[in-house]
Amino acid sequence: MRSELQAIQADFDQAIDQIQTLVDLDALEVRFLGRKQGVVTELLKQLKTLPKDEVGPVGALANEVKTHIADGLAARRRTLDNNEIAIDVTLPGLARPVGHLHLMTTAIRQISDVFARIGFERVRYPEVEWDYYAFEALNMPADHVARDEWETFFIDRQPIDKKLGQRVLTPHTSSGQIRKMEEGILPIKMINISKCYRRQIDVSHVPMFHQFEGLCIDRGVNITHLKGTIDYFVQNFFGPERTTRLRPYHFQFTEPSFEIDINCGICLGKGCRMCKEGWLELGGAGMVHPNVLKAGGIDASVYSGFAFGWGVERTYLMKSGVNIDDLRALYKNDLGFLQQF
Ligand SMILES: [Zn+2]
Repeated sequence: MRSELQAIQADFDQAIDQIQTLVDLDALEVRFLGRKQGVVTELLKQLKTLPKDEVGPVGALANEVKTHIADGLAARRRTLDNNEIAIDVTLPGLARPVGHLHLMTTAIRQISDVFARIGFERVRYPEVEWDYYAFEALNMPADHVARDEWETFFIDRQPIDKKLGQRVLTPHTSSGQIRKMEEGILPIKMINISKCYRRQIDVSHVPMFHQFEGLCIDRGVNITHLKGTIDYFVQNFFGPERTTRLRPYHFQFTEPSFEIDINCGICLGKGCRMCKEGWLELGGAGMVHPNVLKAGGIDASVYSGFAFGWGVERTYLMKSGVNIDDLRALYKNDLGFLQQF
């Protein structure tokens, strides 16, 4: 048993020199002194089997070995502890990269802020919507050809209500118009900014994009209010020297309907190489169609209103002057691209 004890001590001396981490040190302690199967502990259990006159001297030796191991472990632990906290405080720190909001989040905040100043309240409605709110109530009955322009995503579930029809992913923010009217609180001044979904993808289209939709309904609202509101937005968002013009157009849910153009930021409307004619197209607008007011439960002989709905991506990129030749880059989560802004 004496020789076994000596062998254990020799083993330990060899092993302790190899230890480089506190984790390994803990493991070594368990291996030698562990209460359950530590090699020293196991050997001590056999003390009782020795002849009586041997127990004393062997026990003393065993304790010596045990103390030697415990001291060795403690010394090694001090060295390793010191190494692990020996940090050179004079080294320059590692700066963590600072992120920023995504371009479109910034755009949405700026747009909401401008409209908030003239009393337009930001609203939110479901992105999985009934056909009724997305089309039917907006003066686009089933089978109407105007629906084809929207490249709609349909949800693969049977309709549960004849009037509401199928479920769709909101193809435009206009679906919020009827929901707002149905709340029955007039006048209405809302700005609905939301994701829209269409089955389209190419350099200038993504299947998920954003629109902002303004709706104002009150007694005596006319086209000059529409023009004034849009000019206010344009001058606050793009700059005081910018102005707009209305160009007649057709939409099912407005009458009359317009496309809104903004004067070119470079030539201010005179015409230059960038814009050719001096004007750039922003998006659609118009006076709310009486059928739409009716669908929203509003008396069209008393109330009138205007609405406009534009793409956030397109509007923001026009402001920033950033020329992105592929709109899909906005949503690729490529930091190399996003960090440029
Ligand atoms: Zn120009």
